[in-house]
Amino acid sequence: MFNTKLPRHTTRKVWVGNIAIGGDAPVVVQSMTNTDTADIAGTTEQTYALWRAGSEMVRITVNTLEAAQAVPHIRDALAKMGCDVPLIGDFHFNGHKLLTSVPECAEALAKYRINPGNVGKGSKRDEQYAAMIETACRYNKPVRIGVNWGSLDQAHLARMMDENAQRAQPFEPEWVMREALITSALESAQKAEEIGLPRDKIILSCKLSGVQDLISTYRELASRSDYPLHLGLTEAGMGSKGIVASTAALSVLLQEGIGDTIRISLTPAPGGDRSQEVIVAQEILQTMGLRSFTPMVVACPGCGRTTSTVFQHLAQDIQRYLRDQMPTWRNQYPGVEAMHVAVMGCVVNGPGESKHANIGISLPGTGEVPVAPVYVDGQKTVTLKGEHIAEEFQAIVEDYVHSHYGANAPAITNKTIPIHSI
Ligand code: SF4
Repeated sequence: MFNTKLPRHTTRKVWVGNIAIGGDAPVVVQSMTNTDTADIAGTTEQTYALWRAGSEMVRITVNTLEAAQAVPHIRDALAKMGCDVPLIGDFHFNGHKLLTSVPECAEALAKYRINPGNVGKGSKRDEQYAAMIETACRYNKPVRIGVNWGSLDQAHLARMMDENAQRAQPFEPEWVMREALITSALESAQKAEEIGLPRDKIILSCKLSGVQDLISTYRELASRSDYPLHLGLTEAGMGSKGIVASTAALSVLLQEGIGDTIRISLTPAPGGDRSQEVIVAQEILQTMGLRSFTPMVVACPGCGRTTSTVFQHLAQDIQRYLRDQMPTWRNQYPGVEAMHVAVMGCVVNGPGESKHANIGISLPGTGEVPVAPVYVDGQKTVTLKGEHIAEEFQAIVEDYVHSHYGANAPAITNKTIPIHSI
């Protein structure tokens, strides 16, 4: 027997608005806007789009007085649109001033992200950090202590480098850097607790941009604390590089049960869709069998047997159609997110793979009779042919969803890989 139950690192549960992070809660998907937060309409629109795509929390930059003043208006505008996604404020350098001078902002946010490397220098540092934590205590808000290797507290790093130099056998500088990140997060968390923030209001992250560095840092961090962990490869990059690097790093950690919320830091192409980072985060969790968000399309890669693009178009269209329906289907058809649809290019693997899905279609390969058998719950139900195979197949999928996941649907079995208790 294969053991499909994954271990999970034990963490405390922290509530961010109505979303639980850590403990026995599923791994949460979050994202971040790239609009100017002072632009209320633009930030509201992008936050709404990220939420519609499935982001369960959205982080926004709070860097100026105007941005801080905009936060409650953004929260209210989203509420009018029926969107109650928790908003997280991202603070650097002047967070202590903004949180204390704009109490409406402090109240409207569901969580504050504090970077210990960017709260101030010298004697100001502790005082400014304390001001932010005291605000979190006052408004009963959780914080993420988010350390980043690009903005690591240099005084802290210098101290650790000095200590390392005194050792009989000093560690490598890379080790000291990782250790400095971890201790910066843990010491900041301890300080927050000493100021009065309850332990179940603290989430940690230690982000780096190297895959192996990130994995070793989080393994160590997880072994030293029970704070929930926010995972993300910082500055992952653009396109397939950003997706592959993030997936490589996060899947190793998630497989080991490390990570309670994830964000994929993709650089969008100019004019690109910011929601892609949400889709990638969901697909990592879903393909690993940890959570389900959207019906999955299984498609073969195609080969010399698929000489037309009909097959590629059908696979793309059905995937887009399913994703576009999810904002409505999510509530209307519970369980539909775990449905599997197969779109296959020829008779070699088409019928077999289609039978394993809830619904599958096997298109005709080169030289085959131009017909496309459709399989529903493992049985061949109809053979499509002609110009409208795509529309007819979509209608079959829609009927299946209505009849199998609607209010009066009988209990059904999704043809899914097991969803592990992580
Ligand atoms: S199912 Fe057919 S078309 Fe698809 S990759 Fe396999 S042989 Fe090629």
